[in-house]
Amino acid sequence: MTTYTKKQVNDLVAGTLDWDSVHKMLSMPKDAGRYALYMEVLQDAVTYDDKILLAVGPHLNIVESATDGEIIVKCNCGHDFGDYRENWKLGANIYVRDTAEKMDQVYPRLMSPDTTWQVYREYSCPSCGTMLDIEAPTPWYPVMHDFQPDLKTFFEWVELPAPAKI
Ligand SMILES: [Zn+2]
Repeated sequence: MTTYTKKQVNDLVAGTLDWDSVHKMLSMPKDAGRYALYMEVLQDAVTYDDKILLAVGPHLNIVESATDGEIIVKCNCGHDFGDYRENWKLGANIYVRDTAEKMDQVYPRLMSPDTTWQVYREYSCPSCGTMLDIEAPTPWYPVMHDFQPDLKTFFEWVELPAPAKI
């Protein structure tokens, strides 16, 4: 089992780690301190005091609120999307590419999907405008809830004390 430095984990998160190291990190058994080191790197990237428990995406985390201990989803800018068991996307700004003209803004004509069959939904933070996710469903498909972790089991798995309010 290999252990890594905080700089290597930081470079992994930033996308600047060399491919050989990334491949080795992904394919080898994970060292016991990896989760704590990863959370430390994520915590360094934000200015809020809430403790990061898990990443939902590159700019979005599940955190334990420093004020009341509630478990919420938070953008790196500090925007609060509410309870982690609810779908944060319902509190985001949503831009739907549902016409050929809107698809022309991101693809050459005839290289994009037929919007009668597929649309793009772009979810961004109402406070900072960062695009947090994109989904490409059929037009009638409900907003997808990508990730609802079982935090109690997760903290048992990593053998660390769980937050009080999970
Ligand atoms: Zn934000």
